[in-house]
Amino acid sequence: MSIATINPTTGELVRKFDEMSADEVERRIALAHDAYLRHRLTGFDERARLMRAAADLMDSDADELSKTMTVEMGKTRESARGEIAKCTRTMRYYADNAGKFLADAPRDSAAVKAQDAYVKYLPIGPVLAVMPWNFPLWQVVRFAAPALMAGNVGLLKHASNVPQCAQYLGEVFTRAGFEEGCFQTLLIGARHVEAVLRDPRVQAATLTGSEPAGRSVASIAGDEIKHTVLELGGSDPFVVMPSADIDRAVKTAVFARTQNNGQSCIGAKRFIVHADVYEEFSAKFVAGMDALRVGDPMEDGVDVGPLATEQGRKDVEALVDPALAAGAKALCGGKRLDGAGWFYPPTVITDITEDMDIYRQEVFGPVASLYKVADIDEAVSLANVVDFGLGAVAWTEDADERARFIRDLEAGAVTINGMTTSYPELPFGGVKRSGYGRELHAEGIREFCNAKTVWVGE
Ligand code: NAP
Repeated sequence: MSIATINPTTGELVRKFDEMSADEVERRIALAHDAYLRHRLTGFDERARLMRAAADLMDSDADELSKTMTVEMGKTRESARGEIAKCTRTMRYYADNAGKFLADAPRDSAAVKAQDAYVKYLPIGPVLAVMPWNFPLWQVVRFAAPALMAGNVGLLKHASNVPQCAQYLGEVFTRAGFEEGCFQTLLIGARHVEAVLRDPRVQAATLTGSEPAGRSVASIAGDEIKHTVLELGGSDPFVVMPSADIDRAVKTAVFARTQNNGQSCIGAKRFIVHADVYEEFSAKFVAGMDALRVGDPMEDGVDVGPLATEQGRKDVEALVDPALAAGAKALCGGKRLDGAGWFYPPTVITDITEDMDIYRQEVFGPVASLYKVADIDEAVSLANVVDFGLGAVAWTEDADERARFIRDLEAGAVTINGMTTSYPELPFGGVKRSGYGRELHAEGIREFCNAKTVWVGE
């Protein structure tokens, strides 16, 4: 894949970038290593000051930056602005809390016959971050903010279709005052990731993206005995039980499936509705999806822009078209929109059977799979049928049902009467083939720390 900005709204090539040479990559890894040797010795107060300065810069760049995001991957301007605000909130959150999360943690000294025993959280060095285009700032910042606050340094290999966002992120921390080398972008294709990951100066890796990319990075890192965090795909269930407030559930369902033009790992993708409320939910949900305004994501009032890449739209069609040919029904949408750009309309598919690929795979576009179930047992088992386990949502007012969903839904997060959302204040991550490890909150910042055991005798 060449490194280029191609506007998904028009299909036009905006700007092409040369990949960095092996010499330039080597120079940047060396710079990262050198910067780490000094950055690790700085205190939390100093790092927090710089992190807040980076957040201030990003806030003041929001107008231009949100435009760049929309041009590169097609998200609506409003959601681009929202993403920037979430990034700066998270940067300030870690500026405020990193010292607390990484404070020495005392242990029972007497039990281990020590004068003092505790855990000290120390940085580990340069960490490689391989990141996707769908939230081109947020995916990176939720790694970068805790990493830099912990005293680590970062090397970013961003997705090849968002090079201008990548360049911005490779500069903003230095502009804010972090030493050059603390956070850099490597403009390289996926095939060059292995060499960086095997470099002895690179200590660990985090990858957000697809299963094949995660498998490749994890196996190379495994071979090198390096720690990894993987945030992979999801086909999240959204269960609606009879006691739910249907109007609120519908409104949330429409947004959860179409936010970011349907390209969110934690977007609800499979809607599993109890038979008693199925007709009502289905009618209102289809009406809500159909009413969304699809169009130029630069324009105010547009709800759904194009898919980010031409291949992304083909991938959606490769799941929807065979299902429709085999007997599934589209209650709305179901066919690409004519004209320039990679537009695909909000779609609701029903009558899906187990033999269809759409039953188990993730659809990365505004396509909802709708199922009717007889009871909670069937709802839980259908929710858990996929190999993924990222987020899961259930709508119910019944306390026993809530407890059952919280216990039995196979996911890294369960949300009752809402939609899966990531917050800096809560850990985030998946189980099963959605990956492992956690980002955000204290769990996230400790992933790339050496939890060093200290035992001091008399
Ligand atoms: P992708 O193809 O896996 O790309 C993600 C990143 O990995 C890009 O930087 C890509 O580089 C790189 N990459 C691809 N193949 C690689 C390989 N073999 N070795 C090393 N790096 C490789 O993913 P995508 O299709 O762009 O993103 C969509 C997927 O990400 C969906 O499955 C979505 O659910 C998942 N996702 C998960 C989360 C989460 O938090 N769990 C969040 C967002 C997205 P190039 O661009 O150069 O190919």
